[in-house]
Amino acid sequence: MAILTDTLIVGAGFSGIGTAIALRDAGFDDFLIVDDADGPGGVWHWNTYPSVAVDIPSFSYQFSFEQESDWSRSYAPGRELKAYAEHCVDKYRLASQMQFSTRVQSATYDEEAATWQVETSRGPITARTLVHAGGPLSQPKSPDIPGLDSFAGVTMHTSRWDHSVDLAGKRVGIIGTGATAVQVIPEIAPITGHLTVFQRTPIWCLPKLDVALPRPLRSAMRLPGVKGALRLASQAYVEVTFPIAAHFHKRVPVAGVAAASARKYMASQVRDPRTREKLLPTYALGCKRPSFHNSYLSTFNRDDVALVTDSIEEITAEGIRTVDGTVHELDVLILATGFKVTDKDALPSYTVLGPGGVDLADHWEATRFHSYQGVSTVGFPNIFAVFGPYGYNGASFFTLVENSAAHIVRVLREARRRGTPVIEVTETAQEEYMSGVLARKDGQVFADPSCGGANSYYFTANGDVPFRASTTIEASWTNRRFPLEHYKFTDAGTVIQAT
Ligand code: NAP
Repeated sequence: MAILTDTLIVGAGFSGIGTAIALRDAGFDDFLIVDDADGPGGVWHWNTYPSVAVDIPSFSYQFSFEQESDWSRSYAPGRELKAYAEHCVDKYRLASQMQFSTRVQSATYDEEAATWQVETSRGPITARTLVHAGGPLSQPKSPDIPGLDSFAGVTMHTSRWDHSVDLAGKRVGIIGTGATAVQVIPEIAPITGHLTVFQRTPIWCLPKLDVALPRPLRSAMRLPGVKGALRLASQAYVEVTFPIAAHFHKRVPVAGVAAASARKYMASQVRDPRTREKLLPTYALGCKRPSFHNSYLSTFNRDDVALVTDSIEEITAEGIRTVDGTVHELDVLILATGFKVTDKDALPSYTVLGPGGVDLADHWEATRFHSYQGVSTVGFPNIFAVFGPYGYNGASFFTLVENSAAHIVRVLREARRRGTPVIEVTETAQEEYMSGVLARKDGQVFADPSCGGANSYYFTANGDVPFRASTTIEASWTNRRFPLEHYKFTDAGTVIQAT
């Protein structure tokens, strides 16, 4: 029998947890959270690779209303974030409204009933409102390299780490040098017999102020004002280094200053000049996400670590053959190849059919990504996203979750007040929002021509960067204060389909 719920939240990571808490606070108690994982935490549930840790300071990487005093480090390890997710689920009594091991396959809008019919791996669910809280880094991406399946050894993606595989003494290859590889490489290099790193595009790597937080400091954080002061400092640091550096690049050239200091740092870390040169990016810092680590670069000083920059031609049973004809023999192949972020089958990972059977993915492909504050899209009523295109400004993900949840709750409240079942953003509101965001495009770091060589997942196939070009204060304000006339609140059967 189909489950009936008022609001279906897809995703039990922090996006889903934060939305559920906001709904409950506003008196919307009838919700269900589904996730294909077998527990909460999203990326922090799936990513258990060695040394997984956050790279936004923990004082910022948490809900503003649920600030932890017990992080063991300034950048908490992954297991503490998973525990924090479980803590939030317990404290806000969400467990009984969570259904795990449930993969959403499709969502189809029923215009007459004004509901979403959702097909899942565990049966259908009917919901009045659908919230996509799937997160941008949940669909692991395998590299499109010929022969991937022919490798005779063990292959694993970093986000599906197989802890039964013993790397000790093995010949290990790792493809990718993104934020994940930057954490994995220094950790496994001392264990493996030999580690070969296959780099296609180098990454900017900056030092990380990653320090243990001793007990006395953690106790002091319970004193009035201390936690707040640390959070304020952390928020300011994140704001300057991410949103301001990226979106106001022309006016506030933080990225250039950071690149100069990163260059010096990189030179101080790597002994061999040829290796150093290979590790140094040629694109502007900020075109793709930089990394922060204190021993990634120096790991390449080890005799048992090789950096290979020749392109990969093929994966064979023995290992990896590069274009120069060398076969790099391997026992284990690690794919640190990231996630499908803006791919057609990733945002979201299931088919969404709006009024008139319009497919959201086709619609976005045909008309390019757009949205209203990353939360809603014209032609798709009663469906909201926590992380939709042009919604995230690059600050702590938790700020985005709180902003999007506040926005969603605001329109749901208004619909409840009016007693109307259908909520849809207006075309004018979406157009105004999009033109405001896009007007800042030329001042962003992404406009730097060198970004063409960055291979950055920030860019869609047609060259758009669907970030919200905004400070966090501005985003928080507009998500909570937008005019309610930006939405239409109507009765069932009145929505005009997207074209
Ligand atoms: P990523 O940044 O997308 O990096 C993927 C890497 O794989 C890149 O170096 C890419 O090279 C390489 N690659 C992909 N396909 C390839 C192919 N066919 N041949 C050769 N190389 C290939 O993925 P990620 O490192 O998993 O990081 C994703 C995001 O997760 C980060 O940007 C960050 O937002 C988040 N993250 C956060 C943390 C944290 O907070 N601690 C940790 C890890 C990840 P190209 O660059 O040439 O495409």
